Amino acid sequence: MVPIDYTRFLSVETQYMRASEIRELLKLTEKREVISFAGGLPDPQTFPVEEIAEIVSYVIKEYGASALQYGPTKGVTRYILELVDFLKRNRGIEASPEEVIVTVGSQQALDILARILIDPGDYVVVEEPTYLATLNAFRPRRPNFVGVPIDNDGMIVDILEEKLRKLYAEGKRVKFVYTIPIAQNPGGVTLSRKRKEKLVELAEQYNFLIIEDDVYGLLVFEEGVDRTPIKRLAPERTIYLGSFSKVLSPGMRLGHVIAPKPLTDVIEKAKQAIDLHAPTLTQYIAMEALRRRVIERNIPKIISLYKAKRDAMLEALKREMPEGVWWSRPVGGVFIWLKLNANIDTSELLPKAIERGVAYVPGKSFYHDLSGIDTMRLSFSKPTIEEIDKGIRILGEIVRDSLKKQ
Ligand SMILES: *Cc1c(COP(=O)(O)O)cnc(C)c1O
Repeated sequence: MVPIDYTRFLSVETQYMRASEIRELLKLTEKREVISFAGGLPDPQTFPVEEIAEIVSYVIKEYGASALQYGPTKGVTRYILELVDFLKRNRGIEASPEEVIVTVGSQQALDILARILIDPGDYVVVEEPTYLATLNAFRPRRPNFVGVPIDNDGMIVDILEEKLRKLYAEGKRVKFVYTIPIAQNPGGVTLSRKRKEKLVELAEQYNFLIIEDDVYGLLVFEEGVDRTPIKRLAPERTIYLGSFSKVLSPGMRLGHVIAPKPLTDVIEKAKQAIDLHAPTLTQYIAMEALRRRVIERNIPKIISLYKAKRDAMLEALKREMPEGVWWSRPVGGVFIWLKLNANIDTSELLPKAIERGVAYVPGKSFYHDLSGIDTMRLSFSKPTIEEIDKGIRILGEIVRDSLKKQ
């Protein structure tokens, strides 16, 4: 029998899909005892297990008939009302319920936005580096990525301005800028107020949209950090993405989009074809959790846990890394970004690191063009402080060795 060539049945779009390198990596580290700085998994200690157990049985008893039923595509109305209130209390965002869509994690929002905003060849701006899962959501739509580098104050908007000027001089137009302003993944950097305002000005001047991924907006450890959402500065131009993955539970898969009504109407149509709606039961559980202020009570605990781990990692890096190596000093979130400043490909060091019991994500995966070979992302959310000390010591030795061999 001649084997069937299944590729001839596949759509063109599938050629642009990439498997997440991180998920592949996680598979490797599952098999052995590895201190993993690779995934961005929340520490399970942060899950409010007892409270959720209570809420689940309450929700089934109290709302069983509706919680187990089909629901509206935009999300359960009662949940949306609670969500609007929550965002107002915690992020100062004034949204009307019609501007909200409940999604299956932020990931679905990214996928839907790619479908409704990007035609092949469109210009879209991303930070360099940026969130890998966003790149993978956008890639099948075949945009032209425009990368803008970051420093400790987030996206360097002066470089964005230069790039816009050039593109527009050539008659090209940018559809949107995707940014993670607070505690960026993977960079661990935060956009300054001045740059936020400049970004908004540019959006007006060059007529593009801003996709604001605010997943770490509630996980800031320091006082005095400007946490103002861009959505508040430019409500008409900003598509705001929120998620409960890092402050409640990633397994619940609950995200939300706040966008101008003409856009939520289109998102709603797209979502209807994909999955009709986010699971109703989960939305009822989250609704009750919001009512009981579970997240608000939980956040100070998460912050003190992660802050201690961040401090441990920063201390360990200072002790163990050779001179010339740069790393970010995140004010929140779960990642530190490290740059060797040498002609070394961190993906080539990885097998050695895993062999010695440490894993990280090679940084190039976070660049739309796979540049940035001498960088790596280190997550401090899941390992214990002892593991952080030990893991960074090993990593320091590996980095020193590779620099010596240069
Ligand atoms: C973790 C994370 C998310 C959350 O994604 P979900 O699909 O909601 O779990 C979104 N954006 C960034 C940048 C993240 O790091």
